[in-house]
Amino acid sequence: MADIAERARDPRLQALYDEGVNVYSFSKLGTINSCLYGAWRTYILHDRGSGSVYTELGTASHQAIEDFIEGKIDKSGMLPIFEAGVEQCDMLGFDFPKDFKGGNAIRNRYLADLKNCFQTFTMPKGKFTVEELLILRVSPTRAMQGYSDLLRWNNDGTVTVLDIKSSSDYAQKDLLDHGRQLTIYGMALEQAGYKVKSTAWIMLKYVVIKYDWYATRRSKNKTSLTRIVNRSKIYDTIKDAVEAACHEAGMDEMDIEIAMMDFAKTNILGDLFPAEVKTKFSIKPYVREYPYTKELQAEALDYINKTADLYESLPQDKDHPWEPCEITKDCAFFCNTLCNHRKTCPYIKDYNERTMAGATQSKKDEEDLF
Ligand code: SF4
Repeated sequence: MADIAERARDPRLQALYDEGVNVYSFSKLGTINSCLYGAWRTYILHDRGSGSVYTELGTASHQAIEDFIEGKIDKSGMLPIFEAGVEQCDMLGFDFPKDFKGGNAIRNRYLADLKNCFQTFTMPKGKFTVEELLILRVSPTRAMQGYSDLLRWNNDGTVTVLDIKSSSDYAQKDLLDHGRQLTIYGMALEQAGYKVKSTAWIMLKYVVIKYDWYATRRSKNKTSLTRIVNRSKIYDTIKDAVEAACHEAGMDEMDIEIAMMDFAKTNILGDLFPAEVKTKFSIKPYVREYPYTKELQAEALDYINKTADLYESLPQDKDHPWEPCEITKDCAFFCNTLCNHRKTCPYIKDYNERTMAGATQSKKDEEDLF
């Protein structure tokens, strides 16, 4: 998703600034709540810091899907856009975190999931617009602004808000934090006079597979199964069922072996499988609906106002830095990997030096034990 600063300023936004309204985005509220020091650097010093592999590839993924849906490129044009994003990351030295063994499993899985997405993504049904500026006036002095990824204009006159996500699926405990963006976009549309039907995320790394198979190893009969899996795990999830379907379709052993090898490599049920096999497996992008309710709308408004109250209560000048978040083992990952200020923030530098010194000392203690 392109940053607001990269877009030409919309006259509706300019009018708000001219009126002296404090305008917030969903990401600004998130930064304020996760680290005030980071918010001060970003919004008071106007220091955008450096991107990360996730922001770069998230932007490339949005570009690929939106260009395809807008008809600017055909299906084959999506993967090259994503691959150009990967090259750009390599050039900028943005890398994925290492896995716990120090290897590249995180990178490999992320790339395999998204490559599969851009090789197989098909045009969603309906009438869409992309990147619409949405404004929610919260009070005479406050407003929210954001650009929706996709709006689906339904035949019954309602609108569905869709946000494209290249991140991992959300845990139940984090749903409220992530869902507010959808709720806020929905409220902005309603304020503009539209009726919102539903709100949802398109989770690019995942698919929903529907097929008939044994629910467990001990099941005696096949049942209808629905599995939501990473795209790089499609083969692992349905290989037994696919192989059985190949036998049922009368394919010979050699053809089955060749087709299964291709499937293992690509996670795509390609042309080596006859239609009779392919039709037994419905594999579709994972669209995760998020409820759009009055309670969640009230909660989102409260969140906006509390965060804006905090922001507006702080000194708005370059000489008074705000407090950093408390850096613990858990949030050090965010600081070291995702925060735009990770390369220059003195607090994470200090934390890393202290923990490194602690680790070295405890190693030495163990070495000196005898
Ligand atoms: S690295 Fe951590 S402490 Fe520093 S600005 Fe970023 S989130 Fe805040």
